[in-house]
Amino acid sequence: MKRKSNHFILAIIIGLILSLVVLGVEFLIKEESNERYGNRDSEIYKVIQMKTLTELIYEASSQIYKGPGANEGKIAYITIDDGPSKYTNQILDILDRNNVKATFFMLDGNMKKRPNEVERIALDGQGVGFHSVSHDIRVLYKTPEITLEEFDTCKETYKNITGKESKLIRLPYGSKPYTPENSYKILVDNNYLMWDWNLDTEDWRATTDKIVSNVLYYGRNRSNLVVLIHEKEQSVKALEGVIKVLKNRGYVILPIDENTQPLNYWSENL
Ligand SMILES: [Zn+2]
Repeated sequence: MKRKSNHFILAIIIGLILSLVVLGVEFLIKEESNERYGNRDSEIYKVIQMKTLTELIYEASSQIYKGPGANEGKIAYITIDDGPSKYTNQILDILDRNNVKATFFMLDGNMKKRPNEVERIALDGQGVGFHSVSHDIRVLYKTPEITLEEFDTCKETYKNITGKESKLIRLPYGSKPYTPENSYKILVDNNYLMWDWNLDTEDWRATTDKIVSNVLYYGRNRSNLVVLIHEKEQSVKALEGVIKVLKNRGYVILPIDENTQPLNYWSENL
């Protein structure tokens, strides 16, 4: 009898432990998705993720508000980081075909490796900016002087190739939280115009369809978009879809130039 009741108590204890583990795991999964997508929006996000590229583009087109002034003030900047690369010509062809211009934030070494692509970017009238030499925050932020030197080097490389100049920059991994104040200040004091983003397509780890659905999801209800993409195979495949979604939602797609007020995390205007 005693043995039996001991077994019974043991079974209850094991049962309780198992329930707690299950509840704990469910809580953690929920927290993770809430953190990324926001509590209320996680359901919408799941629905968007399940759609095909064609459905996504079609849906964006059905959402256009066609009343007077529908497009007023809605601007999207497509920004392309880490190039030039073996994909740059394809990207430029897609931009041409769709009659839009993007902005390329280029790495010094890649410009030196692919001067023809740099020239074409400049000739096509695309926006041009720089993205550092090292792309390594441990090197780039060692001292403010090194930070400035990296962007000055990029500027010189670009000038050597095209004879043109640019003051636009994008810091690797964004200007916050990694950039020390002294590095930020020295760049601004030297008239560099710093650009971050407010729509991360997460293309470095996403499929083509997911990149487009990320633009739909993260871009909703925003009048100004700075879209971050990289020179990756899946991003090239998604680019036409991204352009269509943005156009269908009524955005005018523009390249960034030096007269555009820079949008970045320090100015808190993103
Ligand atoms: Zn980068």
